[in-house]
Amino acid sequence: MTTKTSSKINLKSLSRTNLEAFCADMKLPRYRADQLFQWMYQKEVNEFSEMTNLSKPLRDQLSEVAIVGTIGTASTQKSKDGTIKFLFELHDGHKVEAVLIPDFDEDGKANRLTVCVSSQVGCVFGCSFCATGKMGLLRNLTPGEIADQAIKINTISEEVYGKGITNIVYMGMGEPFHNYEAVIESACIITDPKSLGLSPKRITISTVGLTKHIMKMADHGHKFRLAVSLHAANDTKRDKIMPINHSLNLSNLKNAVQHYFTVTKNPLTYEYLLFDNFNDSEDDARELADIARWAPSKVNIIMYNNVAGVTLKRAGEERLDKFMRQLRDLDVRATVRRSRGDDIDAGCGQLAIREGVQKGKTIAKETA
Ligand code: SF4
Repeated sequence: MTTKTSSKINLKSLSRTNLEAFCADMKLPRYRADQLFQWMYQKEVNEFSEMTNLSKPLRDQLSEVAIVGTIGTASTQKSKDGTIKFLFELHDGHKVEAVLIPDFDEDGKANRLTVCVSSQVGCVFGCSFCATGKMGLLRNLTPGEIADQAIKINTISEEVYGKGITNIVYMGMGEPFHNYEAVIESACIITDPKSLGLSPKRITISTVGLTKHIMKMADHGHKFRLAVSLHAANDTKRDKIMPINHSLNLSNLKNAVQHYFTVTKNPLTYEYLLFDNFNDSEDDARELADIARWAPSKVNIIMYNNVAGVTLKRAGEERLDKFMRQLRDLDVRATVRRSRGDDIDAGCGQLAIREGVQKGKTIAKETA
């Protein structure tokens, strides 16, 4: 998606290829695209006047036709456990959230710093447990708006934890594969050596199960990791909480993940929110184990951050222990993911909703 502001083109709305095309249109050599890219995504410079390796006439020429749009930090909240939640404001006033989640070693030093980024303002898929799903979809983010979340948080991470980010997960607001091109492009920006230079293996893109795109990512040779938000292990239960399952059910998902593994040879991750008395029984564990065997995989059992107005609630510790024991007995590679930032509403979409996304509130009301 190309964003124009007052007839000027926003260079951060362009893919790398389109940035090169923009330079070619301006009769600039290819290395100028590299320089612009580096200024925007490595040095975080948004004013042409500060791009000192460009000549003054070129800077003036660029200022006449283009801008470097950026996202602003509207607010931050830090949790007792070190998690930092960011609310970013986009050029049109919409807000999205991202979270920095540190994992500490025995000496209390942060060794893994994961950023969870948003890919859309709101979401159209309406999963019943999700705060973002209540907003409806307002718009897609551009590649630059997605990459900027990680780049800005990387700088904060260096300041706060003395180390840059190590992993990125696309699990914030929105369904990443519903904004496929921008998401893939943003991940390519983040992995570019002239940006953060993160390894593709450290980037995980999550989906509710958009099968065409799971296969497309594999077929296009992208090395990013795949996570599937499963949350229920049979169609009857999944239909109840994830409307996507009506059109793309578990049998469609099975074909897609098997194709993904055949092509990439990469194992995948299933995300499974454990809800009290809904998907935490012995039968559920057995069905989940069957799914985990479709292709080499691991399962993250996630303790849910309860959301106001949602009937599904986080499962208790006893039920969690029993469920984990059953999975282990069934040879499933499963890990418990404790919810982080409980004291700051760090669950998907909670902060943006609390801060009030006006249009989103209207949509949620209209579709209620
Ligand atoms: S869980 Fe993901 S796909 Fe479902 S409504 Fe929330 S953001 Fe959308």
